[in-house]
Amino acid sequence: MYYCNKCEEYITPKLADDMCTDVCPYCGTDDIERAGSCLVCGNPIRSHQDYCEECTELAGRYILELGIELHITTEKARELLLAVMEKED
Ligand SMILES: [Zn+2]
Ligand SMILES: [Zn+2]
Repeated sequence: MYYCNKCEEYITPKLADDMCTDVCPYCGTDDIERAGSCLVCGNPIRSHQDYCEECTELAGRYILELGIELHITTEKARELLLAVMEKED
């Protein structure tokens, strides 16, 4: 899976007419980069990310709910989660 920087979409590249360059099948640019996959669900993501938007959004929602439930700020909820994770290591 690749990401086209022009189309801003994940694409499966095709071979250009010169038969040695991978290009975007939609706009034909070679301004594409190899995509990564979300460490949780495996969805394609940008290579500099670790998790997809859906997973980060879900995690963010849980942190928010944790904060509401414990009557603390989301910042504190995040710190609490980090402390729990460090304990498990
Ligand atoms: Zn494109
Ligand atoms: Zn994901």
